[in-house]
Amino acid sequence: MRVLVITAHPDDADVHAGGAVARWVDEGHEVHYLLFTSGDKGHGDPAITPDELIALRRGEQRAAAAILGVPGLTFLDYEDGGLSLAGPDLVGTVTRLIRAEQPDLVLTHDPFMGPPRYADYQLHPDHRALGHAVLDAVYFRAPGPLYYPEQITGGLRPHRVREVWLIMGHHADHAVEVSGIREEVAAVARGPPLGGGSPLETRTKPRPRASLEARAD
Ligand SMILES: [Zn+2]
Repeated sequence: MRVLVITAHPDDADVHAGGAVARWVDEGHEVHYLLFTSGDKGHGDPAITPDELIALRRGEQRAAAAILGVPGLTFLDYEDGGLSLAGPDLVGTVTRLIRAEQPDLVLTHDPFMGPPRYADYQLHPDHRALGHAVLDAVYFRAPGPLYYPEQITGGLRPHRVREVWLIMGHHADHAVEVSGIREEVAAVARGPPLGGGSPLETRTKPRPRASLEARAD
């Protein structure tokens, strides 16, 4: 099985689905991460520059992927916090990448939070925008040859994704058993830092297990 993990920021997939990713890798599935931003706004210290933050967060992401056993890691160059402002380019890019990767399963952000939270959509605009774009692309753009015909004439094939897993929602209906998983993998799922005492240490809450929602296509 080919799995495409599409997230907005470094650490999104590892913290919210690290156990599931490790399971897929251990079972021999092919896993590839697509990260639409490098998290270049995700820090409270005005003294750190976006370039420094990009280097730090990409380094942490590469270290986490290496521990989980994920060989494929692609960073796109969208600006952190800018996905909701990207316009139609975003879903076109997602469609192109899904057609290029031809995944069986896609894991991405649930654009909705669901009860019991006061808001019914993801408050982070990147999570909300990318979740919407991925679901739009999976549902009818990637499989429809008349959408983005220049991609088809350029050599890509239409593709229908069989299954989508959504992270970060509060209405999960599927869980992955991760008891007995390698301790180094559990450490990744508990969150950064991996390089020892980075300022990002307190940004991520511990999560003892991956909590995922599964929806069939
Ligand atoms: Zn994020």
